[in-house]
Amino acid sequence: MKPAIVITAGPTRERLDPVRFISNYSTGSFGYAIAEEARRRGYRVTLISGPVHRPAVRGVRMVMVESALQMRQAVLKELAKHDGLIMAAAVSDWRAATVAGGKLKRRSRSLVVRLAANPDIVAEAGKRHPDKVLVGFALETGDLIAQARKKLKEKNLDFIVANRMNARQPVFGAGKTSITLIERSGKRRTYRQMSKKDLSKIILDKVLARII
Ligand code: C5P
Repeated sequence: MKPAIVITAGPTRERLDPVRFISNYSTGSFGYAIAEEARRRGYRVTLISGPVHRPAVRGVRMVMVESALQMRQAVLKELAKHDGLIMAAAVSDWRAATVAGGKLKRRSRSLVVRLAANPDIVAEAGKRHPDKVLVGFALETGDLIAQARKKLKEKNLDFIVANRMNARQPVFGAGKTSITLIERSGKRRTYRQMSKKDLSKIILDKVLARII
């Protein structure tokens, strides 16, 4: 039987007041590319997407969310009905501790916003569904491999897709990128300057090998 996979993509938006939010530069390009490739292979796909400027992927069940808390709820619900999770979304690590009911006014020269940590969705998904295949992403500006290894372990993932970001290598929305796939065993392999479509094939082959 063909596998059923949940894929997340895009940023999350964390509201400050009715008109403002905190977010990041994610465009959803990697998650959407993986969803398209999975669909092409005939997998059953649910794509949980934060706000992005992209059309829905045809033949894929789309679940649109805005915040990290909404994404968490959708992931935990959907994963129960799928074989694995590819967590490509750039989830905001923080949200406003309190969301203002009315538009914040420019009363003084500075404004202090207290942030609360968002739940780690992929880590929680793994605890609740230990039998599922879990893939995480790590976008790092510093020591890529060490940071990605740490996340792989802490989040108890099957493997992690490590992506370096610096001034010379913009990642968000880029057509081609380089990744290092790191497995739980410590085995790793780097794929340089490939399209997200071709990288999606490599990632899905690995996921498939875990499921069957
Ligand atoms: O933000 P961080 O670098 O820890 O993200 C690594 C992985 O964890 C990514 O796959 C991301 O989607 C996931 N993540 C999550 N919940 C969060 C933050 C990140 O599932 N609150």
